[in-house]
Amino acid sequence: MFQKPKGTYDVTPNESHAWRTLETIIHETMHQFNYHYMRTPLFESSDVFHRHSEHSDMVTKETYDFQDRGNRPLTLRPEGTAGIIRSIVENKLIQPGHILPVYYIGPNYRYERPQKGRFREFYQFGVEVIGTPHPSLDADVIILGFRLLQKLTINKPRVLLNSIGSLDTRKKYLQALISYFTPYKDELSKESQHRLKQNPLRILDSKQKEDQIIVSNAPKIIDYLSEEERTYFEEVCLLLDRAEVSYAVTHTLVRGLDYYANTVFEFVSESEVLGTQNALGGGGRYESLVQELGGPEVSGIGFAFGMERLLMVSNLSNPSSVVDVCIITQDASVYAYAYETLLALRSSGIHVFYDFSYKSMKAQLKHASALGATYALIIGEEEYKKHTIAVKDLKTFNQTTINQHDIHTYLLEKLGA
Ligand code: AMP
Repeated sequence: MFQKPKGTYDVTPNESHAWRTLETIIHETMHQFNYHYMRTPLFESSDVFHRHSEHSDMVTKETYDFQDRGNRPLTLRPEGTAGIIRSIVENKLIQPGHILPVYYIGPNYRYERPQKGRFREFYQFGVEVIGTPHPSLDADVIILGFRLLQKLTINKPRVLLNSIGSLDTRKKYLQALISYFTPYKDELSKESQHRLKQNPLRILDSKQKEDQIIVSNAPKIIDYLSEEERTYFEEVCLLLDRAEVSYAVTHTLVRGLDYYANTVFEFVSESEVLGTQNALGGGGRYESLVQELGGPEVSGIGFAFGMERLLMVSNLSNPSSVVDVCIITQDASVYAYAYETLLALRSSGIHVFYDFSYKSMKAQLKHASALGATYALIIGEEEYKKHTIAVKDLKTFNQTTINQHDIHTYLLEKLGA
C-alpha cells in the first residue's frame, strides 16, 4: 500500500468540516478588518527565499529545492511573506502614501523533524501590511491576531512581545551578547556553542536547560534601543493595554528570520495540547525586505499562524451529522420519481442523501441512521402511484405519508423546529 510522505497528513471527510469553519472565520475576520485576499504560487524562483541576507535554519537547511525540466532553480515556499512581497512588487500594488493590507492562506514546506504540531507540509494563515511604520499599525496587526484567537475561543491567548530595534541597534547588542556568552562558552549546549559563532541572538531562543540560566542574566536588547525605538515600542504597548490584549514583554523573543526589525511578537495559548511547540503564530516588522525583493524602500509588518496548531487548540468540532434526510428506494421502476424528489429537496436547501446502493430496505435504513439523518423518505410502487412519500422519523420510528408536492414544506418546517 502506498503511504503519504513523512511529515504530511490527509484531511479526511471526518476532519474537513473543522478546516472549513476555520477558513470561514478567517475570511470573515479579515473582511471585517479590510484586508485583501491574495494567492501566490506554491513554488518560487529559489532566490526569492535564498537571499544573501537570510541565514535562518529554515532557509539554509529546510527548504525543498529542485530544478524543473527547464533547469530553473525553484523552491517550495517555506513561508508566506517572501512570495507575497514578490507578488506585491511584481504587480506594482504599492501606492505611495497608502498602506496595503493583504492576507493569505496556504501550504508551506519545510524539511523539519516531524513531531506533534510540526509537519513538513503545513498550512499558514498570514497577513502583511506594507506602508509607513507607526506604532498604531503595529498594535492593530497584533490586535487582529489576538481577536482571531478570541473568536476561535482559544484558551487564554497571549502575545509575547519584544523590540529588536534596527540593524545598528542589533549590531551593538550582538557585541554585548558575544562578550557576555563567551566566558560561558563551555557551559552552553552544543547547539548554542555553534550559535555563538553563527548567530548569537538565537541562543536566547534556546529550549535547553543548561542554556536557560545563563540566558536569564544576559543583556537585554531593550537596554540597547535608541530613544526613538524605545518610545515606539512603549506606544505599541500602551495601545495593546488600551485594547485589553493580554501580552508579556519577553526579552528573549528574537524570532527566527533575519528580516525582522523593531516590533516582534508571538501568539501562544495556555493549552497543553501542543507541548513544546506552543507557538500558534508569530511575526514582526521588516524594514528592508520589500527593497531586497526589488520594490521601493518601504516598511512592512506581518504575522503567520500555523493552522494545524489553531485547530489543535480550538474547539472547532466536526458536526455529528450533515445529512437531514435519506431517500430510500429499492424499486427500479420508481427511481425516476425518487430522483425527482431528491432534486426538489436539494434546491430547497435540505441536506439529502440518496442511497444509490438500492440495497435492502433494512440495510438502507441502517445506513441512514448511521449517517445521523433525522428522516428516511421511503419511496415504493405505492407511493409512486399515489404521488406520496412515506416519511419515517428515525428516532421514534413513527411513519407518516405526505404528498410529494408538500414534502419540502413539511420537512423544512419539521427540521427548522
Ligand atoms: P514561523 O514562520 O516559523 O514563524 O511560523 C509561524 C507559525 O507557523 C508557527 O508559530 C507555527 O504555528 C507554524 N509553523 C511553523 N513551522 C511549522 C511546521 N513545521 N509545522 C506546523 N506548523 C508550523
